[in-house]
Amino acid sequence: STFQELGLDANLLQAITDLGFVKPSEVQAQAIPLLLENEDSDLVALAQTGTGKTAAFGFPMLHKIDVSDRTTQGLILSPTRELCLQIANEMKLYGKYYKGLNVTAIYGGASITDQAREVKRGAQIIVATPGRMKDMINRKLVDITKIQYAVLDEADEMLNMGFYDDIVDILSDTPEDKNTWLFSATMPKEVAAIAKKFMKSPLEVTV
Ligand code: AMP
Repeated sequence: STFQELGLDANLLQAITDLGFVKPSEVQAQAIPLLLENEDSDLVALAQTGTGKTAAFGFPMLHKIDVSDRTTQGLILSPTRELCLQIANEMKLYGKYYKGLNVTAIYGGASITDQAREVKRGAQIIVATPGRMKDMINRKLVDITKIQYAVLDEADEMLNMGFYDDIVDILSDTPEDKNTWLFSATMPKEVAAIAKKFMKSPLEVTV
């Protein structure tokens, strides 16, 4: 398949051309049409790192959010600071033609004041590690009560690192009717438990 055939917005197709992506990876070819065609769906995708999964959730998220609105609409949880920064950078590249788009990364080990200032400027998309996210929610430095899309990236890794309670607390602070897209390399009990607790008959993709 081609990116055009997946039904992506012209802003994304232009960025994809700039990036030199010629054809969708397998997880992209499977997940993107599902997420674009199903207005209101959850997704469980079993995919390893390096398979292009950032774009598999990132393109649909960018396609669906409203950049004219500064409300935080998309939240991406990721296990480490490095991954968080990497995802935020990819999202900025993918979204470069969306005028007014703000993508903010929040993670531990850096100034919470600086991150709070960034958030306050109005980020449609926040990429976060669970610990810092929880901390900022508790201190009322971030509002995720209006998000429409939540991504759990490398869910198995986040749970291995002991973030189960933080993830549950964070997701409990988001609207009931949001869509949750879970990406994981493996499906251990704890990941299945999160899926069961927060997702409604998710679509499934395995690569
Ligand atoms: P990821 O698995 O999302 O970390 O992506 C791994 C690398 O592949 C990143 O550097 C992406 O920019 C790149 N990439 C993602 N999708 C494609 C694609 N369809 N064609 C070429 N490169 C891609």
